Amino acid sequence: MSKIDTICVQGGYKPANGEPRQVPIVQSTTFKYDTSEDMGKLFDLEASGYFYTRLQNPTNDHVAAKICQLEGGTAAMLTSSGQAANFFSVFNIAGEGDHIVSSSAIYGGTYNLFAHTMKRMGIDFTFVAPDASDEEIEAAFRPETKAVFGETLSNPSLAVLDIERFARHAHAHGVPLIVDNTFPTPVNCRPFEWGADIVTHSTTKYLDGHGAAVGGCIVDSGKFDWTKYPDKFPGLCTPDESYHGVVYTERFGLAGAFITKATAQLMRDFGSIQSPQNAFLLNLGLESLHVRMKRHCENAEAVAEFLAGDDRVAWVTYCGLPGDKYHELAKKYLPGGSCGVVSFGVKGGRKAAENFMKHLKVFAIETHVADARSCCLHPASATHRQMNDDELRAAGVSPDLVRMSVGIEDAADLIADIDQALAAAVR
Ligand SMILES: *Cc1c(COP(=O)(O)O)cnc(C)c1O
Repeated sequence: MSKIDTICVQGGYKPANGEPRQVPIVQSTTFKYDTSEDMGKLFDLEASGYFYTRLQNPTNDHVAAKICQLEGGTAAMLTSSGQAANFFSVFNIAGEGDHIVSSSAIYGGTYNLFAHTMKRMGIDFTFVAPDASDEEIEAAFRPETKAVFGETLSNPSLAVLDIERFARHAHAHGVPLIVDNTFPTPVNCRPFEWGADIVTHSTTKYLDGHGAAVGGCIVDSGKFDWTKYPDKFPGLCTPDESYHGVVYTERFGLAGAFITKATAQLMRDFGSIQSPQNAFLLNLGLESLHVRMKRHCENAEAVAEFLAGDDRVAWVTYCGLPGDKYHELAKKYLPGGSCGVVSFGVKGGRKAAENFMKHLKVFAIETHVADARSCCLHPASATHRQMNDDELRAAGVSPDLVRMSVGIEDAADLIADIDQALAAAVR
């Protein structure tokens, strides 16, 4: 079983004779053992098994295993949200006094986490533009740099990360490349094939795909050799006193060290677990991911082409469009399609964009993106409403910008809705 479509439907869970066909929801906080010795071995990480759902739960493990197979990784874990996944992915290898190089084209929540909250924990970040020159990227590294971070396709700016180029810089400095692959999903891009070492997801978006459950996931490629740089990664290469001196890379190998450490230490201490119920819902979404992504991309392309050819529209950003700034990188990394998110400017600026939003009937106004239903947002009057026009432009959000998340309805209905709203808004 190696094709993505088959893994979406059947990966991660193989019922034995007479067992439930669907992944069972193990709605139990705890697990029973016959002897204290049995349980002791689990606590010492000497045997694998379940004892408390904060650390591991069978439902979550089946669903994590499916995402792991989809990405082509060696180990994976679910988290309560995408925020928790990105936090753990960095904090698992960086601490006070350390430094991270990050693409500046990242989700606003991730930017806040890095630039403010993790900075208060003593971790410093240098942000570089995804299209920065090699010299600029090189200049961002320091001796205490522990990782490079970027988004395959950035939310909301839709910049495509040159994964091979960022991986080359990271590896030249002996550090891993962490890639948030939320927008393309493994159906449209598998960052490990281009040299990324760790992949994260907000499963809240297309992986769930129905706007039903907030969640996250971390996948390890197993390819980064931590043991070559034991001084840089002591947490993985030297004894963990909180687990009787276990050395993660020795006990679990390169395939398992990163995720085992993140589970044993970070999940134990921060407790950002995904509920088994949410993992079940996530898995239902994953079963149709390959079918939905294809339709999201077809519809978004039709919408982007309609917008690009309409003179009531000032500009369109969609990397599938020839002439888009990231079209060439998209052809390399996202040959089968990017995602359903398209942004564009309504002619007439802020007022016209506000009017356009008022007249939409099929697209709903939401801060969310990436589920089956089409939705849209005018950041200048919603998420960024405290900013004036100059501040908006400085943040890369123009006053006329409308972000659309194109769903899997009939494209003709979506285009007709946009057409009538433009007719009412732009005169
Ligand atoms: C939404 C999002 C996140 C945060 O995920 P949550 O599940 O909302 O915590 C992180 N990265 C990207 C690219 C996102 O789109």
